[in-house]
Amino acid sequence: MEKIRLLDLDTHELEEFVASKNLPKYRAKQIAERLTAGASFEEMTNLSKDVRAMLAECAVTGIPEVADVKRSQLDGTVKFLFEQEDGVLVESVLMKYSYGYSVCISSQAGCKMGCRFCASTGIPFSRSLSAGEILGQVIAVQKHENVRIGHIVIMGIGEPLDNYDNVVKFLRRVTADEGLNVGARKISVSTCGIVPKIYTLADEKLPVTLSVSLHNPFDSERSKIMPINKKYPLDELFEACRYYTEKTKRRITFEYALIAGVNDSKRHADELAARMKKLKLCHVNLIPVNKVSGTGFERPDRKNIERFAGLLDAQGVSVTVRRELGRDIDAACGQLRKQTAEERKAAEAAKTAGVAETVIEKPDNG
Ligand code: SF4
Repeated sequence: MEKIRLLDLDTHELEEFVASKNLPKYRAKQIAERLTAGASFEEMTNLSKDVRAMLAECAVTGIPEVADVKRSQLDGTVKFLFEQEDGVLVESVLMKYSYGYSVCISSQAGCKMGCRFCASTGIPFSRSLSAGEILGQVIAVQKHENVRIGHIVIMGIGEPLDNYDNVVKFLRRVTADEGLNVGARKISVSTCGIVPKIYTLADEKLPVTLSVSLHNPFDSERSKIMPINKKYPLDELFEACRYYTEKTKRRITFEYALIAGVNDSKRHADELAARMKKLKLCHVNLIPVNKVSGTGFERPDRKNIERFAGLLDAQGVSVTVRRELGRDIDAACGQLRKQTAEERKAAEAAKTAGVAETVIEKPDNG
């Protein structure tokens, strides 16, 4: 019998579940409170032993196992590798800002979008995550680090709008009073540009920030690094963005990973500025690209990054250069998962070949 994942259930569904087990309604509230705190069934000491045993038999919490933790010595950024019940690996990154803690979470195990500069591209797509598995990352990070997370970005592994229903269910759960109660305005949903879903999201009445991975303002060039652009070219993408800003009155953030010699010229800055000026309610976030092995992409030097930002600023475009966090732990999405997946594959191959087993380091939970 397949076990039910309790974090997937909203309040009403959890009440139905406890009723199906002949338990009183108040048990649903007790379970939900402990789930939100990241408790395992053994730790749910507000429930009787019998109820805990029954839960362990037919359900799992949905809180993922911590498979690895990397902690930056430079700025306290903490990168987590989480393992779901079926062994799939996803990453989350906890960052500390002046305004509090922010977590970047994954929506899928792997990604089908194939952006050339991304570490998620080199490893096969496993599956999409359920709403509970997305929520479980936030809860597990809060519990592990004993912090309260105030901001969430769904910008880790995966394309959130390719897992639309689960992501929207997650958004409703995480913003609910009885959930983690994170303000919708403090949540960013990232997309590489799945145009029809931008329209659908605009109509959800969820005032989250939409964050669009743009990376190039020219169709022919963007299509070379982001295959999604062949399906939904820039004019269609910007029309959907215009609709989003009109419906939600929210400013859209455009992520622009600066790659030396690829998209960092004056020609690129001018075209980008022209598109931004037409849209109005927008902001450009420049990200000096992280070096990902095998891509051959390099970040521009500091002077060129500032020159590019200056060109946008001079044309009245709101622009910032993303502060780099966790540089010493390769905090870009997908890198830790890729490394661990490769290590596990090597360990499997070594086992099959009958040679000494590669040891995968266990997490430092302290
Ligand atoms: S950048 Fe985002 S959408 Fe593109 S491959 Fe990476 S995870 Fe997927």
